[in-house]
Amino acid sequence: MIKLSKRLQTIADRVSADARAADIGSDHALLPVYLVQSGKCPSAIAGELNTGPFLAAQKGAAEAGLTGAIDVRQGDGLSVLLPGEADTVILAGMGGSLMSDILEAGWRDGRLDGVRELVLQPNVGEDLVRRWLVRRDYVLQSETIMEEDGRIYEILHALAGENKEAAEAWNTRLYDASELPLQMSAGYRSEWLYRMGPYLLQEGDELLKKKWRMELGKLERIRNQLALSTLSESREKEAALGDEMQQMEEVLQCLPMVKP
Ligand code: SAM
Repeated sequence: MIKLSKRLQTIADRVSADARAADIGSDHALLPVYLVQSGKCPSAIAGELNTGPFLAAQKGAAEAGLTGAIDVRQGDGLSVLLPGEADTVILAGMGGSLMSDILEAGWRDGRLDGVRELVLQPNVGEDLVRRWLVRRDYVLQSETIMEEDGRIYEILHALAGENKEAAEAWNTRLYDASELPLQMSAGYRSEWLYRMGPYLLQEGDELLKKKWRMELGKLERIRNQLALSTLSESREKEAALGDEMQQMEEVLQCLPMVKP
């Protein structure tokens, strides 16, 4: 059986057994091959926009002897799916902005109708994905943070809410920042829940701290560059970065952040 990287294995582990899974932006179709070969999913769809990765996905499915069980389709995002065709959609290894655009276009076209489960691994911009989930009544079930080859990844697992009211109630509780033990204003506190992840903040894993300390280091370097500039806009940007860094430090000091 195909051996997945730690990141892809963590994603595959989140997919519910027997789901009709669609991996969008599948590249070599490693995930669909694993899901079918392992017996976890009876069949899978691999979607790809670009011709090179589309051909690589076709080759991956063929080499695994799974052309019958893995349907490789070329197209933009969720447009490769018919409404009701998939139970689980996987999007991995792309930015959160592209990911939420793909999800939103799919939601508007009805391609997400009947999709119960989303397994999402944005490389950056996780907050955009969390906001999209809330906007479209998906409820986050878990967040996993892991490291591979010096890179830190977050994997979000969400289910479609049973109905709008239930999803809104869940999400309101999940992102309720009013009780967090932070000095900053409620709006900023909420922002940090979206940026760092509501479950990840509660768990306060060392990897989460490492990720955000690295982010702090990046901002510090940008601020040092700005300090060399004589432009007046640079002073404003420097001040804004300073505020952001101060908030980041405050959140890091409070981890794990359990609501009272
Ligand atoms: N999902 C695999 C993984 O996590 O290892 C591959 C990630 S690869 C970095 C991103 C893939 O998404 C590329 O193969 C790219 O062609 C594909 N892609 C980018 N935009 C897309 C879109 N709008 N619809 C479908 N695929 C897309």
